[in-house]
Amino acid sequence: MRYANIIINISHEAVDRPFTYIIPEELESDIHPGTRVMVPFGRGSKLKAGYCIAVSDKSDIPDDKLKSIDHVVLSQDAAAGKLLELAAFIKEQYGSTMITALKLVLPVKKPVKSRKSALTDFSKEDLDNAKAASDIVLNAEQESVVSDFTREYDEGIRRTYLIHGITGSGKTEVYIDMIRHVVSQGKQAIVLIPEIALTYQTRLRFMKYFGDRVSIMNSTLAQGERYDHCMRAKEGLVDVVIGPRSALFTPFENVGIIVIDEEHEPTYKSENMPRYHARDIAIKLASMHNASVVLGSATPSVDSYYRAMRGDYKLYKLSNRALGGSLPKCEIVDLREELKAGNRSIFSRRLTHLLDEKIRGGQQAMLFLNRRGYAGFVSCRACGTVIKCPHCDVSMSEHRGAGRMVCHYCGYEIPIPKKCPKCESKLIGSFKAGTEQIENEIKRMFPNVGVVRMDADTTSRKGDYERILREFKSGKAQVLIGTQMIVKGHDFPRVTLVGIIAADISLGSSDYRASERTFSLITQAAGRAGRGDFPGEVVIQTYQPDNFAIRLAATQDYEAFFNEEIAYREIGSYPPVSDILAVMITSKDADAGFMLSDRLSNFVKIKSDATLIGPSRAGIGKINDYHRFVFYLKHSDMNALVKAKDIMEEYIEKRDLIGKCHVYFDFNPMNPF
Ligand code: ADP
Ligand code: ZN
Ligand code: ZN
Repeated sequence: MRYANIIINISHEAVDRPFTYIIPEELESDIHPGTRVMVPFGRGSKLKAGYCIAVSDKSDIPDDKLKSIDHVVLSQDAAAGKLLELAAFIKEQYGSTMITALKLVLPVKKPVKSRKSALTDFSKEDLDNAKAASDIVLNAEQESVVSDFTREYDEGIRRTYLIHGITGSGKTEVYIDMIRHVVSQGKQAIVLIPEIALTYQTRLRFMKYFGDRVSIMNSTLAQGERYDHCMRAKEGLVDVVIGPRSALFTPFENVGIIVIDEEHEPTYKSENMPRYHARDIAIKLASMHNASVVLGSATPSVDSYYRAMRGDYKLYKLSNRALGGSLPKCEIVDLREELKAGNRSIFSRRLTHLLDEKIRGGQQAMLFLNRRGYAGFVSCRACGTVIKCPHCDVSMSEHRGAGRMVCHYCGYEIPIPKKCPKCESKLIGSFKAGTEQIENEIKRMFPNVGVVRMDADTTSRKGDYERILREFKSGKAQVLIGTQMIVKGHDFPRVTLVGIIAADISLGSSDYRASERTFSLITQAAGRAGRGDFPGEVVIQTYQPDNFAIRLAATQDYEAFFNEEIAYREIGSYPPVSDILAVMITSKDADAGFMLSDRLSNFVKIKSDATLIGPSRAGIGKINDYHRFVFYLKHSDMNALVKAKDIMEEYIEKRDLIGKCHVYFDFNPMNPF
């Protein structure tokens, strides 16, 4: 006997309560995850519509207590059918339950709150500017990319394109023209952006062409707004949706193009289970809709560029800045020399000089620090002891000047100790700069100058991003300080100086992508300077001025960087040359966790020809009292790793071994477990 799990009411909440039905023999070959069916429901056994989310050959409920599926219906709701199919793909590919995968793709339930106009949060000035802006005429370089794309599109060619365009080369205008072409044929477009902070300005630019047929989707929207977004998309009132990776799950019937802007950004990889990458889902979704995918970046991910070089993606190049102007002049400042010269400030002498010059000249500056919170870890200068979270095994951070320290993983909080817990020295304190410290320093140096700061702490409420960006764009603030949030895609013509406070920070992570992250952060940050009439200058402060990623970022030489980096990946069999599957086992019981990681890795080693690394304790050995163990599998063929994952899932299911353990999978991890 075959059974199907059916959800009756297709919504996020209904997914928790699937009902089991018997599949009549004659329907066996017709029913799969995603099939729409009519089933008898409730006391009166009235026929209701439902969706199959899983089939199996066993059921916990005796057959005589079960009803049978009545018949299969051809789905009227193409969008929902596609999303269910996508959920099934995610489950298979990444290792997750169907329920988790469905929760990811399905819209939230209708809330009681009333509707709100999608346009009300723009200032009048911005709206007027958007209307007044005359149509941009593409330059020759942009035009040739768009016309090649539209020619292929009209010939029915669908594939993935990668636009490698330097910062300011006008990629957004290119996306817009491609999308206009596709939308004019009655199709819909999905535009992914890496950071909520970019929503405001991206949407403004798209509104010029698509008016109120542009919708946005992101986590700062209330549940009601998200529901409205989905309904408007379903009703065909939307042509273009802009948002983070979750915008992929907009219920569109006929997607024609999916754009991923700043495709190199790590935010496209989900850090929650299932750990999917937006690029892979976009390509899958595009194949289901017969759509094209367009990736764009000034610093393409090594993964994508490698695929383009191999011919999997078609590569387009934009090598000139659209508004004329040249790439900024970059200087590397050796911080070791600063210390030798007795300068203990956050700012090198050169950066201080340039700040002074630009600010007095009425221009704007951006200061970038790749770090969260007020200050880094608290340590003892006498003995080197670092204050760590007792639950998570990571250093705690001083926070918000409240004299307290907090663990960013579990939230554990303590007052900053007055003396070192180990050697009792009073020389204990925070010693690395945070964005707030930079802000205070700037305010001290330039008391009458407007300063805004953008980081996780200043942008926690709705509207915060927009307010900060508006203050800077209008010129009310002359200095913008921020974390990686400020380096992505912003277009501020009056910025002539970019200061990268500590270029090394991202080199320090114990991750094979450290150089790539560093190169891209510096190049992108530098690209914010000199977008207007004045040339831009960039100061890169570092303790490692000879590092190749820093050196090549300063000369903005992507190809040279790629060639050096890919050689390193080849030697180490790292992605994209090889693929990696990270497997993490967590448990409150350290012995049980260790035992399972040991057995599971041994089992998969016998069953698969992937190379095994580990098992060992994870880099962060404990979070929230859960012990963490990891091992890695490497293989030159991704399918072999997916198969290895299947083998492990089966092992876990059959032996019922996991008891107190949890197992997580991560393909080509962005952040190590
Ligand atoms: P990118 O995304 O490649 O960094 P943008 O699309 O933000 O570049 O473009 C940079 C600036 O150049 C924007 O202000 C944009 O309006 C302008 N721009 C782009 N293309 C053109 C064009 N063909 N003519 C005039 N201005 C352009
Ligand atoms: Zn000490
Ligand atoms: Zn903790």
